[in-house]
Amino acid sequence: MTAAPRSCDLLVTGDLIFTLDAADRVLGDGAIAIVVRAIADIGPAVQLRARWAPARVIDGRGRLLLPGLVNAHNHTPLMITRGMIEDIGFAPMYTPGIPQGHWLSEEDAYALSCLGMYEMLRGGCTTVVDYYRYPGACARAAADLGLRAVIGGRVHDADPAALADGRYDYSLAVGAASLRENAELIERWNGHDEGRIRCDWAPHAPDTCSDDLLREVRRLAEAHGGNVHTHLAQLPQEVAAVEARCGLTPAQLLDRLGLLNDRLVAAHCIHLEAADIALCGRAAIAVAHAPIGNAKGGRIAPILELQDAGARITLCTDTMSGDMIEAMRWTIAMQRIRRQGNVLDARTVLDWATRAGASAIGLGDLVGTLEIGKRADIILLDGRAPTVAPIVDGYGVLVHSASGHDVDTVIVDGRVVLAGGRPTLVDGDAVVVRAQAVAAALWQRAGRSTLGAKDGMRDA
Ligand SMILES: [Zn+2]
Repeated sequence: MTAAPRSCDLLVTGDLIFTLDAADRVLGDGAIAIVVRAIADIGPAVQLRARWAPARVIDGRGRLLLPGLVNAHNHTPLMITRGMIEDIGFAPMYTPGIPQGHWLSEEDAYALSCLGMYEMLRGGCTTVVDYYRYPGACARAAADLGLRAVIGGRVHDADPAALADGRYDYSLAVGAASLRENAELIERWNGHDEGRIRCDWAPHAPDTCSDDLLREVRRLAEAHGGNVHTHLAQLPQEVAAVEARCGLTPAQLLDRLGLLNDRLVAAHCIHLEAADIALCGRAAIAVAHAPIGNAKGGRIAPILELQDAGARITLCTDTMSGDMIEAMRWTIAMQRIRRQGNVLDARTVLDWATRAGASAIGLGDLVGTLEIGKRADIILLDGRAPTVAPIVDGYGVLVHSASGHDVDTVIVDGRVVLAGGRPTLVDGDAVVVRAQAVAAALWQRAGRSTLGAKDGMRDA
């Protein structure tokens, strides 16, 4: 006798399901049953339809299902500089003449963060690491739009006003304020919504934090658990400043202070000597690689050497275009140029953007693959889009040809948060209009008018 179907909250079907599990299973005409926030069953649609009585069905005919993408390093309030910083500078904190983080109000940060979160969601990112000033605003934006997020503060004691002029003025007051902000973030947001929002410590960089401040962050992070997020060897100015301060490379400094370990998620890792690469590898740090930012800055991180040495690689868009598929493609292209050969393939970078990325930021038990027991973070791509045909092994066309804009539905924690390319929990148009208004005011303060007016509409 056949057992009566069990009830589930959501049944999602699809022409192909790329599980990215250890067996690398790809299911044709498959389905996923979701109970509350988690995947309760996955397999052939015909079997799941018999086993489950869903409250709701998403008919994924013509759709391709994948685990949600993991974007391991961003600062969404810095959307304020997007489209400008790429041509006039590098990291905004080091660039004069543009809106600076310390000019933002908390509501400005929230408006910009909503824009960044919306864009990443639109491109299929379900898990986002984000840290900046007003981290509570970043957490609130992720919570409101429905993403999974790891949020940190921006801990530093170098005065940002001096830094934009190339000077390092370490200030106890600046350090204390940034520590307090990160601590308040953790207190208020860590564990929010059954752990959908998690918070960590995030010292900005080895040059913008004094030794004493980095020691204090290590102490606090050990008590907190979780990861420590930072920038490492991002640019020559950082390397020179650390060398001048203590005679060490940035990686050596973090090692000496007890921060270079398998809990560190270090963005960039561009300007590393061979000894630094070995050191980072031995410490098994996670590297958040930003291929598009690297390329636009003119130098590519040695991620394959870092991986060979023992580091774990994750990918990020770092507040450039939030399309992780584009970032995967750039990663391959940049490494092939750097190493002058076919050194990296689609399946590897897709793993970095899903399973390995989730694992590196401490979420490997929760997300990163489509398997029973994991949280239901699923993206549906339009399998009829010309960009995803023809499908042979699937991985190749997804990485080398697809676009984030092929994503039409996103599910996080079993909840549909993007449908038909539109966010379901907020008004997407209002998010864009509000961010434009914030940008217009801040760029005006920097001495530059914007084409989009303060009310968010383009001038006639
Ligand atoms: Zn960054």
